[in-house]
Amino acid sequence: PAATLEVTDGSEDLKARRMRDDDPSLLETRPPVVTIMGHVDHGKTSLLDAIRSTNVTASEHGGITQHIGAYQVRLKDGQRVTFLDTPGHAAFSAMRARGANITDIVILVVAGDDGVMPQTIEAIKHAKAAEVPIIVAVNKIDKADANPDRVLQQVAEHGLVPEKWGGETIVVEISALQRLGIDDLLEQILLVAELEELTSRKEGRAAGTVLEANLEVGRGPVATVMVQKGQLKLGDHIVAGAAWGKVKALVDDKGRQVKVAGPSTPVQVLGFSEPPNAGDEVRVASDSGQARTLAEARAQRIRTTGHIPIAGTGARLEDLFEAIQRGETATLNVVLKADVQGSLEACTESLRKLERDDVKLAIVHRGVGGITENDVQLAKAANATIIGFNVRPDRRSRDMAEREAVEIRTYEIIYKLIEEIQSAMLGLLAPEFEEVVTGEAEVREVFRIPKIGAIAGCYVREGTITRGTKVRFLREGTIIWKGSITSLRRFKDDVREVQSGFECGIGLSDYQDLKDGDIIETYEEREIPRTA
Ligand code: GDP
Repeated sequence: PAATLEVTDGSEDLKARRMRDDDPSLLETRPPVVTIMGHVDHGKTSLLDAIRSTNVTASEHGGITQHIGAYQVRLKDGQRVTFLDTPGHAAFSAMRARGANITDIVILVVAGDDGVMPQTIEAIKHAKAAEVPIIVAVNKIDKADANPDRVLQQVAEHGLVPEKWGGETIVVEISALQRLGIDDLLEQILLVAELEELTSRKEGRAAGTVLEANLEVGRGPVATVMVQKGQLKLGDHIVAGAAWGKVKALVDDKGRQVKVAGPSTPVQVLGFSEPPNAGDEVRVASDSGQARTLAEARAQRIRTTGHIPIAGTGARLEDLFEAIQRGETATLNVVLKADVQGSLEACTESLRKLERDDVKLAIVHRGVGGITENDVQLAKAANATIIGFNVRPDRRSRDMAEREAVEIRTYEIIYKLIEEIQSAMLGLLAPEFEEVVTGEAEVREVFRIPKIGAIAGCYVREGTITRGTKVRFLREGTIIWKGSITSLRRFKDDVREVQSGFECGIGLSDYQDLKDGDIIETYEEREIPRTA
């Protein structure tokens, strides 16, 4: 889907409002927004259902909630908690990649009978990268083989040291299925929310983020928006990405029509000109003219800066070659950072020119300045390679890139940059090699000769062993060493090659640990001429 990452619009009106957003006298406590993460089948959906069904009173639309991407529960004392009901890491990091930080608290669900699994670790990484507090919910404690202590041990190993072991991580034992511990979990969420001092401007024009949007028959474009500041009202002139319009209807998570929605409230918004994209920032303009102008300026910018694929499409530099070889149309996603606007334009221009039919290039994001953690997060979510021209990552973003396996390439000379990206994109034209085994010898005995080192006494079984060729040592079919033949002897003489059926001595300079029975295999890489 096409989208824009640019949320600034330069309008004085909006700038003035942003300033006011920080004015402490206008800030009020707001409900926390919670995302549930964890490994598949550990009970994320069950937990969302458990919370929803135990906290939605019958008076609220017969107890049935709409699935609009999020819901809010009201606890006995009137406090509220908002849950994003699309569990999953992709959604979380895609939102973050778009600059939208919606989540205040992450609940990490870990099944007590299964323990920490790969996606649990991934969730921890995402939450840590977002600097969002994590509450661990050990689920399925009703099961006989549940072992909460083991879970504590495992999460501690990933830096989440439980409170009862002197750490800071809150751990709650629950059974989503039997509705055990749910109230305790909600209480802990409120506690963390209080510590986090979550506030926002409650009055005035709204600002928020699109959670999801689609086109519905009979309703037109429908967007679920998380209101983050101010009050979103019927009749407001709204902009989100390239979409604009006037709020025709607001529908809450219980399916009720409402007139206003305040901070941390999810609502469906009807009235957009087209469905905006998930992660788009929602703003209220002073009139329809301003809304339309802003949206059209953004649409224009999307057209000129190119489409922006998010999450999972495209390949990184290192994967590109493989994709080309599989005969697929490959897309190289790039986050481009440069020192000044001029060089940014120059790099963009040159990179664009490298695009070909079978290798597309998508600049997911570009900007002036050093490579930041934000860039890394973005690159991670969009599966992009970061290219820096005359800029470097700082230590924190370099660490993060390493953790998240995001590739960063920096250049100081533009033609180097172009050359390297081009050779990656022209993967088809890079020479292709095939390997040919040229000789095979069996180790019979290893001698140690003073001043010379170890020499493998071998019998050449096949082909020819030639000095200087590439070699690998095999033990029971496993490669134990790779290098080249540096010394080759027949009796006491140095020779250039030895044919099959003869004995020889192969000098072992770098790897001396051979045994009889090991195989020494020599090979060559031959370039395959291209037909295309
Ligand atoms: P998700 O993939 O993380 O959303 O996991 P689900 O919520 O779909 O749950 C996966 C499976 O675990 C389902 O069969 C649930 O019924 C089961 N399950 C979830 N929570 C519990 C629990 O507390 N106890 C038991 N015994 N089973 C549970």
